Amino acid sequence: MPVYEYLCEDCDGIFEAVKPMRESSEPEPCPVCDLDGKRLMPTQFNAYIMRKGYARRIPDKGTYWHLGTEVSYLPKQARAYEHPQIKKERRTEPLSRQDVVELTERKVVERRLQRADQRRQRSLAKDARARRSKEKLPPRVPGKITT
Ligand SMILES: [Zn+2]
Repeated sequence: MPVYEYLCEDCDGIFEAVKPMRESSEPEPCPVCDLDGKRLMPTQFNAYIMRKGYARRIPDKGTYWHLGTEVSYLPKQARAYEHPQIKKERRTEPLSRQDVVELTERKVVERRLQRADQRRQRSLAKDARARRSKEKLPPRVPGKITT
């Protein structure tokens, strides 16, 4: 069975799959995020080659393609699918009013739960102290029924 290349647009990753030709145009689940990866068609197919487990663009400029982004060296200590030359995009837009309200509400609820938890811990500690001090009391007279 031939090897086909697929592109996951969500994580910009290229991965290979061995499957029958008649199934080659069907999407293949991405090994990272499990979303459907689209088959790289022959023109795009020729633009990359897999070497050392990394996609490299042809003509080979000595650079590597890490998840669709050009980098000059392979990551050495980075985790798979991460590369130090690629900064993770961070959300920079300011929070919407709705988000702020929701975030504040969540914080309030969290703090309330935390306080309730602290109260419970304090009362448990108090009970434990009370029990310990009771145990220190002299034992009751044997034979006497205690309730
Ligand atoms: Zn993916």
